[in-house]
Amino acid sequence: MGTWKLWRRGLIGGAAGAAAAGLAGGGPAPPQAFAQYAAPPTAAPAARKGLECIVLGTKGGPRVGPGRSNPGYVFLVDGAPYLVDCGPRVTGQLVAAGIPLQSIRKIFITHHHNDHNIEYGNVVDLAWTNGLDRPIESYGPPPLRRMTELFWELNERDISIRMADEGRPDPRAFLKPTELERPGVVYEDDKLRVTAALVNHPPIEPAFAFRFDAAGRSIVFSGDTTADDCLIALARDADVLIHEVIYVPGIDAIVSSLPNAATLREHLIASHTPTYDVGRVAKEARVKKLVLTHLVPGDNPRIPAEAWTDEPRRAFNGEVVLGQDLMRL
Ligand SMILES: [Zn+2]
Ligand SMILES: [Zn+2]
Repeated sequence: MGTWKLWRRGLIGGAAGAAAAGLAGGGPAPPQAFAQYAAPPTAAPAARKGLECIVLGTKGGPRVGPGRSNPGYVFLVDGAPYLVDCGPRVTGQLVAAGIPLQSIRKIFITHHHNDHNIEYGNVVDLAWTNGLDRPIESYGPPPLRRMTELFWELNERDISIRMADEGRPDPRAFLKPTELERPGVVYEDDKLRVTAALVNHPPIEPAFAFRFDAAGRSIVFSGDTTADDCLIALARDADVLIHEVIYVPGIDAIVSSLPNAATLREHLIASHTPTYDVGRVAKEARVKKLVLTHLVPGDNPRIPAEAWTDEPRRAFNGEVVLGQDLMRL
């Protein structure tokens, strides 16, 4: 008998034995024992006609905390989900929004910061263990293809076990990456057109914004960017512009205590859009509604809502909305 089996026997004499004794005594099995095989806890939302977007997370940056979730957006076309960005917690937020993971049609990645891509592979892997049985196409900057290969390599052990042990198909056939290097139409079918613009988010190149047009409606997501003319052109006359924003006084308050304060502050100002610029972007793009997202700092409850919205409202006559997690647009 191999070492693993001997260790397992030892465990059976301990914790598992106690659990078995509990069962023999008539107690219910612990629910978590079967959770990984259970159906998703939420049902799919009733399919609405047309184009809408559910904002999965409204905090910028990779810091994971109990408040706002990190970047992720799901666009729904007649109820069919298209995921944009895969930040920390995006998989759980999709479930919270009532989107079955295996129903995702495509994935778009704006750029390769980990608050936008760290769950890229995880969301497809977990869709697979949730019953995914067809490919999902993904679109994003290089090295998306290499990242996809390495993700499957990282998880090879679990994949081969589940294929043999649970009779699942090979998930590596279920993620088909396309690398984007240029702006323009990146995806089109009979219901939906997705157009990309290159935006300014140093030092990352390329970084994209995406515009979704479907059923006579248009919603644009800025990705991470400074106030940018290419984004303004992409968003021209859109119904909704979901735009990233930073609140500089709030940043000053948090970076002062960090060892990399000066560098971090410099990056944030040079790569993102302050509250005093984002209203002008919406005005020049002539959009109907501006939704503020990717809030930095997004986890300081002492910053009031008006700190985010006052300056944009002074610059832009349309509707200005402070983004909230799971908001439907
Ligand atoms: Zn970001
Ligand atoms: Zn970024």
